[in-house]
Amino acid sequence: MPEVFTGSFTQQEPIPEAAIEAAVAVMRHGRLHRYNTVPGEVGEVAALEEEFAAVTGARYALAVASGGYALGCALRALGVSAGEAVLTNAFTLAPVPGAIAALGARPVFVETLPDLTIDMDHLAQRARETGARVLMLSHMRGHVCDMDRLVALCADLGLKIVEDCAHTMGARWRGIPSGRHGVIACYSTQTYKHLNSGEGGFLTSDDPGLMARAILLSGSYMLYGRHRAAPPPEAFADLRYRTPNVSGRMDNLRAAILRPQLARLADQCADWTARYRAVEYGLRGTPGLALIERPEAEAFVGSSFQFRLDGWEADRIGEVIRRAAARGVELKWFGAPEPVAFTSRYDSWHYAAPERLPGTDAVLAGLMDMRLPLTFSLGDCALIARIVRAEVSTVFQSG
Ligand SMILES: *Cc1c(COP(=O)(O)O)cnc(C)c1O
Repeated sequence: MPEVFTGSFTQQEPIPEAAIEAAVAVMRHGRLHRYNTVPGEVGEVAALEEEFAAVTGARYALAVASGGYALGCALRALGVSAGEAVLTNAFTLAPVPGAIAALGARPVFVETLPDLTIDMDHLAQRARETGARVLMLSHMRGHVCDMDRLVALCADLGLKIVEDCAHTMGARWRGIPSGRHGVIACYSTQTYKHLNSGEGGFLTSDDPGLMARAILLSGSYMLYGRHRAAPPPEAFADLRYRTPNVSGRMDNLRAAILRPQLARLADQCADWTARYRAVEYGLRGTPGLALIERPEAEAFVGSSFQFRLDGWEADRIGEVIRRAAARGVELKWFGAPEPVAFTSRYDSWHYAAPERLPGTDAVLAGLMDMRLPLTFSLGDCALIARIVRAEVSTVFQSG
């Protein structure tokens, strides 16, 4: 009997008991709105923002309604306007070009290298052609490009970097936390990311003007003085009359759920990466399968796993997917002709009128993806790798 995996690729861990208790306490007092506090009280959201700033090393932090909201807010704070070109990775998730398009701005996609990072030569070319001022850099599936090189290149090109850290909360490049290289970083606390409040997100920055704008945009009214991980009131002086309210606040209930999770983030990240390494170990040397080698400077969070079946015909990849699924292993394929579930690709975002990107097409054609939730044991990960290895080998050798 061939081995079968029976776990769920979409089942995250339960919310920790301390977080449940904190959430119940908020519901008991009923002050769920972040600005609904009694004298002397620091609300859960304000406390969470201080803690998040401390964890990432950012000067300022703002908790918001979603990661996608954070991205849009970042662009608005930077003054991106309708019709403006904004550069971003072709390999990313739909909320990234969506945030750009929501402002009436124009997503311009940059090619993807086989290691799933942004193609910096193509970035330079597109920056010069479009005159873009902003790069929304998506660390898609946690793959961090050479940030030293990117920061130098963007300085040369006059590009401001907004980092999409939806998959790199807790990751580092040469010891520097992901999100600390750009002018603004955006994070998500949606269920499938590294902290789970159902929906939610963060925006961080060291720039007082940008953060004052972001706070006002998020819907602070004239209550911005209640923020703690925020610039001083002077930073808001003129901006408060000039900045529209685009409500996207986080509430105290979600913040209460997040604070105990944030306290254990580093341990969780280590657990994810141990799972990643277990799958990688089990797949190394599989005929026809290319692993994505991780640079030494990159301390990544292995909450998902990618590998490539380079040059494989589509129907043979389909055969691998079917055979793995029959043994309980759910493989996602970025090369599928039609977008499925969360797996979308740049050419399915017709509103952005994307140009063909041959390099990205070649990478996505063979790109396979798996989530690695922490409900998987290391043994589960070894089993998943044995199943994938066996089925990839079988189909490879039959062709
Ligand atoms: C999830 C995600 C986002 C947006 O997060 P939401 O909180 O779902 O809006 C942005 N970028 C990437 C790469 C993501 O995976």
